[in-house]
Amino acid sequence: MFSYRHAFHAGNHADVLKHFVTIQLLQYLNQKDVAYSYIDTHSGAGVYELDGAFASKNAEYDTGIGPLWNLTDMPAPIKEYVDLIRAMNPSGKMRYYPGSPYIADQVAREQDRLRLFELHPADSKLLADNFRKLDEHKAQQGFRSTVRGKRVLVTRGDGFASLKALLPPPSRRALVLIDPPYEDKQDYKKTKDVLAEALGRFPTGTYAVWYPLLQRMESRQFADKLKQLPAANWLNVVLTIKKPLPDGIGGLHSSGMFILNPPYTLEPMLKEVMPWLVKALGQDAGARFTLESGTQATAGRNTGER
Ligand code: SAM
Repeated sequence: MFSYRHAFHAGNHADVLKHFVTIQLLQYLNQKDVAYSYIDTHSGAGVYELDGAFASKNAEYDTGIGPLWNLTDMPAPIKEYVDLIRAMNPSGKMRYYPGSPYIADQVAREQDRLRLFELHPADSKLLADNFRKLDEHKAQQGFRSTVRGKRVLVTRGDGFASLKALLPPPSRRALVLIDPPYEDKQDYKKTKDVLAEALGRFPTGTYAVWYPLLQRMESRQFADKLKQLPAANWLNVVLTIKKPLPDGIGGLHSSGMFILNPPYTLEPMLKEVMPWLVKALGQDAGARFTLESGTQATAGRNTGER
């Protein structure tokens, strides 16, 4: 049950896609003063050491943040993402990589609320410890205590089961990130079911789902199932870095972000950025992206492939 540790995958191409899109979703929410909730149902450890034993085992960051680290000429949304990681590595050496909770902590404002769930006993402890350290660091800089101030709540528990109690959030503004391991194929169904329930309680929230593209049927059918959910709008972006090989051979080739109720700015931004990202991270002629969007019941659907 507890075999998955995100540290083995930190900073890979899938994290690049997930994290730069998450930053853009948060930046959009930042445009209005009203506070919002960021809910991370599957948080991981929050911060990863790229020179630690886990991350360096397969050095998956070489497929993601690695090739971007020394570039100077990047589209603005990629630069914002790389700059955030550079800021946590002031020596200039790429040592630390942020998880989604750390990214949200950096991009969200003091008035916003972070609700973080992690089930793995070791990773939930690391997550809580990392936020305690961040809190101490911020206190030294004169910020009020984020953890004690209830801005950030870290819970060891099941993010699927915990989501509904937080919806709708008091301010009626929220980004929910759902990023399970999918090693258990039940994660596909649980994600779809939890989204159906969440949309019933809070139809206007923005929900972002990361998923791997694998040969197993649940993975191949996943995006089509999410398109059937009763959200006003959806967007699906997939990054492929190399020619697909059978599952388990050659590592993950593709992953997607499926967003329910995306901001209207997201699709034009991705049309600009994704061709650049395919060139920067692509490993062979199979590298490509797909971008599609639609409205409820798939009326008015747009598909773009490169
Ligand atoms: N969102 C993180 C990031 O971007 O940095 C990475 C999360 S990782 C892909 C998935 C995490 O979900 C793992 O740390 C795993 O222990 C945790 N997990 C698995 N099942 C869970 C559940 N039902 N509720 C909460 N966390 C769970």
